[in-house]
Amino acid sequence: MSAQRNGGCLCGSVRFVALGEPMRTLQCHCRFCQRMTGSTSYAESMYAVDAVEFSGEPMSRYSHRSESSSRQVHVHFCPKCGTTITLTFERWPEYRAISRGAFDDPNSVSISSHIWTSSAQTGVVLPAGTDCFEFARADLAGSPQAPARFDAPQMARTGASDPPP
Ligand SMILES: [Zn+2]
Ligand SMILES: [Zn+2]
Repeated sequence: MSAQRNGGCLCGSVRFVALGEPMRTLQCHCRFCQRMTGSTSYAESMYAVDAVEFSGEPMSRYSHRSESSSRQVHVHFCPKCGTTITLTFERWPEYRAISRGAFDDPNSVSISSHIWTSSAQTGVVLPAGTDCFEFARADLAGSPQAPARFDAPQMARTGASDPPP
């Protein structure tokens, strides 16, 4: 039995089927993801690049040079409604990210790590018992980084820039 998840964009013009379990599901708080979503963070499930089949409208693509790696990240989105469906990466051509929010059932995948918590916005709460990385899961040389794990939920950013309670 292999898992299969369906999803698509807001307007329904782009649909996909993701085959098998994602390798992991991350919530990313980097500035790239904040701007791309216009929100606090981007939740993404990582798959092998060919594990997802797309149908319907061909997606548009925007490529942006990552500030951290200076490699291209390709944002693939619905040309009609603008929903970001998937990311592909110059640095990791064998993988793709699928937007968690684009799944028909986003709760069928669970967030295993929060990454780039050093740039998380005020008001963001990091959950207990989940790997939290200040930056990426690995440095640019590929060495794994040690995550923090909290006993209780905690504010990602506490400091002078926080609004008063
Ligand atoms: Zn659409
Ligand atoms: Zn990010």
